Amino acid sequence: MLSYRHAFHAGNFADVIKHFLLVNCISYLQKKDAAVRFIDTHSGAGMYRLDDEMPSKLNESQNGILKLQNCMNTNFDTTLSKQAKLCLQNYLDLVFSFNDSNKNKAKKNNINLVEKYPGSPFLITKLLRQQDDAFFYELHPKDYDYLSKNLQKYFNKKHHNKNYHLFNTNGFQGWKANIISPSKRALVIIDPSYETTSDYENVLSYLSQSLQRLKSATYCIWYPLLNKRESFQLSERLIHLLQNQKENKISWINTKYFIKNQQKYNNNNNNEANKFVGLLGTGMFIVNPPYFFPEVVKETFAFFDTIFLQENIKDSFEVIAEIF
Ligand code: SAM
Repeated sequence: MLSYRHAFHAGNFADVIKHFLLVNCISYLQKKDAAVRFIDTHSGAGMYRLDDEMPSKLNESQNGILKLQNCMNTNFDTTLSKQAKLCLQNYLDLVFSFNDSNKNKAKKNNINLVEKYPGSPFLITKLLRQQDDAFFYELHPKDYDYLSKNLQKYFNKKHHNKNYHLFNTNGFQGWKANIISPSKRALVIIDPSYETTSDYENVLSYLSQSLQRLKSATYCIWYPLLNKRESFQLSERLIHLLQNQKENKISWINTKYFIKNQQKYNNNNNNEANKFVGLLGTGMFIVNPPYFFPEVVKETFAFFDTIFLQENIKDSFEVIAEIF
């Protein structure tokens, strides 16, 4: 069953938070010169025009990137520490870089700067250095086709010399071929659609098998916060899995961000579009995160509350971590 299409949700608050965390994991790994291998097990279509049919059906980017894009003009400068500001800037600059051609028009006509929103394979490819490589998996034939054409169109290999490989196959199998990078440095993003409950089990067995091959990789696991046993148990089961590893202890961080404004999107009755009826928020579990993440993520999530208008909400986020 492959009915989920990420285009309906492109640029929403969950994408913003997931990509903010992803981009900063990448930039931390790239502080060293040694090559990094990137694996994106569930890539999606790669690039989304926010005024296209699917994204404009639910308009979720209105309470996501389109709100955040203006944050430079608000209290961005005064409320955040230097490091949190830098992290937010890393993410925003990357998103803006795909919208450069719209800069003048947006300024002149006072319209949104972000008209195209990059998905995880675009963020990764843009950040690939000469020594890095990337493996992208997408099972949906249409989204695979879009991904392939989008990447080719934007990153004309001849000019950009980007070393990426695309597969129209099951991303949960990807570790078999690719997890061991020559430099033993890797980042894996695992972002399934959770259309079936088997995805929760697949995430656990994927991580378990990958850790046997490469314990030091950074694993970014996205999951939806739903009123559902599997969803709430996932992070506990991931922690349990890590604590049962032999030899060295493994660092992790678990982030949950709850959204109250999502309710209005959930009232839309388009079944295909509205996959996550009852979405309470967005979760990201990161294995081997940057050491400074706990403080910076808490600070940035508190800032996101001001952007996503969560003034009166208590306990809008939860960040727990074990860093060794
Ligand atoms: N990672 C993307 C991003 O951040 O821009 C979004 C990915 S979306 C949440 C999940 C994608 O996984 C969908 O495009 C879906 O078609 C694809 N998919 C579902 N099952 C898959 C599988 N077993 N292997 C690879 N892709 C799969």
